[in-house]
Amino acid sequence: MHIHAINLPRFVVVGPNVLPNVTDIMTRLNVKGNVLLVSGDSYTKAPAEQVEESVAKMGLDVRRFIAKDATEQTVAEVERAVCESKSSMVMAVGGGKSIDVAKMASNKQRLPFISIPTSASHDGIASPIASVKSAGGPFSVMAQPPIALIADTEIIGGAPRRFLISGCGDIIAKYTAVRDWGLAHRLRGEYYGEYAASLALMSAELVTEDIDLVARGLDVGIHAIIEGLISCGYAMCIAGSSRPCSGSEHLFAHALDKIGAGRAMHGEKCGVGTIMMMYLQGGDWKSVKEVLTKVGAPTTAKQLGITDQQLVDALCMAHTIRPERYTVLGEKGISPEAAWDLARITGVIC
Ligand SMILES: [Zn+2]
Repeated sequence: MHIHAINLPRFVVVGPNVLPNVTDIMTRLNVKGNVLLVSGDSYTKAPAEQVEESVAKMGLDVRRFIAKDATEQTVAEVERAVCESKSSMVMAVGGGKSIDVAKMASNKQRLPFISIPTSASHDGIASPIASVKSAGGPFSVMAQPPIALIADTEIIGGAPRRFLISGCGDIIAKYTAVRDWGLAHRLRGEYYGEYAASLALMSAELVTEDIDLVARGLDVGIHAIIEGLISCGYAMCIAGSSRPCSGSEHLFAHALDKIGAGRAMHGEKCGVGTIMMMYLQGGDWKSVKEVLTKVGAPTTAKQLGITDQQLVDALCMAHTIRPERYTVLGEKGISPEAAWDLARITGVIC
């Protein structure tokens, strides 16, 4: 019988001004000794200082580490800081970079980690997957989920609006990711988990339902995005991989990263990828486009800040990004002619 082990976050707190809850959670986790706190050096500084102060009041020794990027080298530096400070816990206060390096370093050092996101731009805030850059380009690895997640909606709501739009795109991407997973299961006999797939899909459906609230920037809309991203993190924990949350639309986004095209955020690229992959999958790509348009997310190459040629190049190389991940793009990918047609029909290029 196949053994399937699931590792899930233990405490999840979402709401306004919940940062002080960190001490209660750490008491319940019986954290002792030293703690390493990883953060960025921009707008995440203030919440990081608040957390540092609260934890220090518990009598724990907090060391700070400023992560300027999410590279393998920074992960190694965090590991060194963990060893030197003899930390028993790693915390991350920040957006993508701090959470990714803290997640990966803590996993390597076999220590628990607490995720305190300051924006809701991608589903890594609660997932077991860490994305870092190496000399060979960006890559994602299975690390560990946070043992606790504290999402302060006041702080997240105060982040630039673009972050929330990116988070929305990353959730909408689950429509095509789940279809690709089903395809790989039917064509390749790949493991498919109904629970994980349903959870990822439900996140996309709930955000679609609440899209007007998200578009108006209401608290309930921000909540919907955060909870959607957390549910996606759980879906990956349950599946034991990023499969329910990352399909051909993510391969397209990663292909854009690889050719260094534009400065769009991860979820913005995934959103545009979802429109096009949904067309290839024979699904309702117009609805996907409508949802993204409502929230003000990019739906064209121009809005992503890339040229038409770069978009087509990314489409043509997407299947090579992660060959073992079978998607609607198949083994051979899409031809340049078909890519131009696809982009024109879906209005991604004019
Ligand atoms: Zn993603």
